[in-house]
Order: sequence, then structure tokens, then C-alpha cells
Amino acid sequence: MLKIKTVTDLQNTLQKIRSTACKIGLVPTMGALHQGHLSLVKKSIAENHFTLVTIFINPTQFNATKDLEKYPQNLPRDFDLLQKVGCSAVFIPSIKEMYHGNVTAKKYDFGMLTQHMEGRFRSGHFEGVATIVEKLFLLVEADVAYFGEKDFQQLQVIKKVACDLPIKTKITPCETRREANGLAMSSRNELLSVPIRKDAKIIYQTLCRAKEKFRGGDSPFEIKNFVAKVLKKTGFALEYFEIADAENCTPITEKDDRLKNIRGFIAVVVEGVRLIDNIAFSS
Ligand code: AMP
Repeated sequence: MLKIKTVTDLQNTLQKIRSTACKIGLVPTMGALHQGHLSLVKKSIAENHFTLVTIFINPTQFNATKDLEKYPQNLPRDFDLLQKVGCSAVFIPSIKEMYHGNVTAKKYDFGMLTQHMEGRFRSGHFEGVATIVEKLFLLVEADVAYFGEKDFQQLQVIKKVACDLPIKTKITPCETRREANGLAMSSRNELLSVPIRKDAKIIYQTLCRAKEKFRGGDSPFEIKNFVAKVLKKTGFALEYFEIADAENCTPITEKDDRLKNIRGFIAVVVEGVRLIDNIAFSS
């Protein structure tokens, strides 16, 4: 597995790869890899000749300095995991390499897509995500890029970024991988104490119960009250729960049979760690 640190080295490598008519798969990550990330990498390996994973903790997408400072890192372990699954190359640039002297996010207008949920509670987050993903897309010009549904609103933002760029890269969504108790895998799970990581199954359980209620005909208002009540009894502080149209990530206030793609979205904070999850409500 190639380990590439500079943009120049990456460009040289990709030039050679492209000249052999290889299909290139891209998997952007922030590292501290888990099986969720690896499911994206394995899919890329199965579908492409050359898989490039990027590991870069992108400063411009963190709206809280503390969150950035404590973000887990373990490059030796990440390299080992990637090597074992057969990844072709990993790109681990410095902040300087990606931003030069200007560590700021570009301005974007994502319309309704970023008005709610993560866009509302993490000001500037999606502009930071879009800035780095755009740089990677233009640099790599991959055939396919893989992103997880775990970060569903991010996935929709990235589809828009790709669509607006003069690139051929196709975005492939990948389903959320979960721990045995249902908790969505996340690098941030490493920051939880052992008992809380077990108790965190409540997040997925609550989403599933909310989905049952939605299918049973309860209104979004009733379901939001239900979720708030369930979590109030626990140490998990609810930041938001929304039932939203998956396409534009806009919350719905009443059931509308014309909307075919509805999902439940949740964000909670526990032990100072912010956890998000979402599932499909419509089949
Ligand atoms: P991150 O390192 O958190 O920026 O995630 C890198 C990519 O992995 C993103 O496309 C995430 O949506 C995806 N991802 C993170 N966790 C999971 C998971 N549990 N299942 C599937 N994909 C995931």
C-alpha cells in the first residue's frame, strides 16, 4: 500500500494510474478507522482497480475547538487495517498541504439542505466539509467516491458539491454499520466510557421505536414528544430529533403520502461526545 503525503506525489501517482485506464475509487475519512469506514473501502476495492483512502482531520469543519482537539487519531492502526483489506494507497496530507496559508472554508449556498439538523446545530460545518471534499474531488478525479449514510445530510451535501463540479465522479452511498448493540459505528465512540458505550444502544432503539410509531400513524409532533420523553430519563442529552424528507433534509410536520423517502434523524450528547444517527422511516 502506497503512503502519500504530498499533493505532488499524489498527482504523479494518479497520472500513472489513469494512463493504464484504471478505475479509481476514493474514500475520504478523518481516520481512527472502524468497520464502518472499512465497509466503504471494501466496496471500493470490489468495484475499482485502484482504491485511494484519504485520512485528514479537516479543521474547517469543526465548529468547536475542543471537538477538534480530542478527535481520536491512530495512524499506525489505520495503516494496518487498510493494508489488511487490500487498499491500494492512503493519502495523509498536512493541513498546509491542503490549505496552504488559508485555513478557511469556502462559502456555499446549499439552500434548504443545510437549514436544519447538522446545518443548524453545527454552524459552518458543511461549508468546511464541502471545502475539503471539493479539493479532494478536483485533485483525485475519481470514478466513484464512497460516503456513508451514517452522515446522511452530509451525503446529500456532497452529492450537490459533486453535481456542481466539472467532474465525472459518481457518489455511492453506503449503509450504516452498527456495533452489536445497534449503536452506529463512529470514531467518536472511542471517547465513551465502557458503560455509556453499552447504554448508547438507546439511540438506535429510540429511532426504531419512533419509526414504528410513524408507521403506526402517529404524527411527527407526537413522535418528537415521545423521543424527548424517552431520552429525558437517561444521561443522553437530546440535541435534536427530526423526521425529515431525505432528499432535502427538511423536517416534515405532518405525514404526507407523496413523500416516499422519509428518515428519522437524531443527535445526542453524552460524556461531552456528540453522537448522530438516522434510519429510513419509509420502506
Ligand atoms: P469520518 O471519518 O467520520 O469523516 O467518516 C468517513 C466516511 O465514513 C464518511 O463517508 C462517513 O459517513 C462514513 N462512515 C462513518 N461511520 C460509518 C458507519 N458506521 N457506517 C458506514 N459508513 C460510515
